[in-house]
Amino acid sequence: MTSDILIRRARLRGRGDELFDITVADGYVAAIMPAAAQPAAAQVEIDAAGGLVTESFANPHLHLCKVYTLAMMDEAALRDYHGQQMGKAMTAIELAARVKEQYAEAWIVENVRRALREAARYGNTHIRAFADVDSKARLEGVKALLRAREEFRGVVDVQVVAFAQDGIVREPGTAGLLREAMRLGADVVGGIPWIEYTDADTAEHVRTVFDIAQEFDADVSMLVDDAGDPGLRSLELMATEAIRRGWQGRVLAHHARAMALYPQPYFQKLAALLRQARMGVVSDPHTGPLHARVQELLAEGVLVCLGQDDISDAYYPYGRNNMLEVAFLASHLLWMTTAAEMETLYDMVSTRAAAAMGLHDHALRPGAPAHLVVLDAPNVLEALRHHAAPRHVISHGRVVDSRLTVAE
Ligand SMILES: [Zn+2]
Repeated sequence: MTSDILIRRARLRGRGDELFDITVADGYVAAIMPAAAQPAAAQVEIDAAGGLVTESFANPHLHLCKVYTLAMMDEAALRDYHGQQMGKAMTAIELAARVKEQYAEAWIVENVRRALREAARYGNTHIRAFADVDSKARLEGVKALLRAREEFRGVVDVQVVAFAQDGIVREPGTAGLLREAMRLGADVVGGIPWIEYTDADTAEHVRTVFDIAQEFDADVSMLVDDAGDPGLRSLELMATEAIRRGWQGRVLAHHARAMALYPQPYFQKLAALLRQARMGVVSDPHTGPLHARVQELLAEGVLVCLGQDDISDAYYPYGRNNMLEVAFLASHLLWMTTAAEMETLYDMVSTRAAAAMGLHDHALRPGAPAHLVVLDAPNVLEALRHHAAPRHVISHGRVVDSRLTVAE
C-alpha cells in the first residue's frame, strides 16, 4: 500500500537524536519506524532533515470575532484592563464593547480569515473561538465565525463558542440570543459569570449557561474571575454546577486570574473540585499582569493549558496564532525554564490544549488522526527559542497548502 505522506528523517520528542520515518494514510498516522535508507514510496515525501515532528498546536482560547480591531479602539480599554493589578478589568470590557455597535458579519469574517490563515501557517490546527453575543454584537460575530468554520474545515478546525461577553443578567436578552446562536450551529456555550454585579446574579449566570448547554447537549467554556479580586469565586461555582449536572469533562475555565490571590487552604479545596469536575483551566499569562497558579495546578493533577486569548484587540496588541510564541512568553512569565518545564509548556500548547477542547486522540502514534508539524528545530528548546513557523503543517492527514498562508 502506498502512503499519502511519508515524512523522512524526523526527530521525535523524548527520543534524542534517533531519526524516524512517519507514514500517513487516509487521514491517520499509519506507522512510525526507524529511518530507512530506502523507504517505501508515498504520494508526498517530506524530508524533515532531523527536524522535530510533533502533534500540531491547539489554541483553546481565542476571541476570534475581535481580531485586528485594535485600530478601532481608543487606548483607554487597554490601560484599564492591565492597570492597577487588573482592578478595572470590568471597565475595560465596557469600553471595548463600544466597537460592537459597528459589528457586521461582512468585515468581521475578513479579519477571521486572516487570523485563521495565520493559525494554519503556525501549525495551530484546532481553535476554540469565542464570538460575543449581546444586544450590540447581536449574532454578527457568531455568523462570521460559523462561516469561517466551514471555509477552514479540515485545515483549521474551529469550535465556535457563543459567548455572553457583557453578562447575562445585566444584559437582558442575551440568554435568548445565546439559544439562537446554538440553533445556528455554535458548538459551545460561553459565559463570564464574574462580570455580573452581585453574587446572586453570578450564580444565575452560571445556571443559565448550564441550562442552555443541557438543552443543546453542548460543552461549556467560561471566563472566570478575570480581575484582581480574591473575592471573585465563580470558578468554584462553575465546578460545583458541572458536578451537579453531570457535565464532568465537558467544562473548561479560562483565565481564573483571581486565583493568584486566593489563600492557600481555599486554593487546595478548589484544586480538588476541579479534579472532581474533570475541568481544565486555560491560562493566558501574556495578556494580563495576574494569572492562574499554573505550576501548582499542574502539581495537583489539574488539566492546565495555554491560550492565545487575543490578537490585536482592545485587550492585547500583539498575537499571531503562533502557539510556540505563546509558550515562549509563558516560559518567562511563569518562570518555567528547566528542560522538563519546557516539555510541559510544549504539551500545554499541543496535546493538553487539545484535551482541554475535548480532543483526546491528539497524539503522534499509529492510528491517531494525522495533525502534525514538521519543525525547523531539533528539539523543544530550539523550537521555543525561535518559535518559528513549522516547515510543514499536516492537518487531517493532508499537507496544508502554503497558498492559504501567504503573509499579508
Ligand atoms: Zn479572553
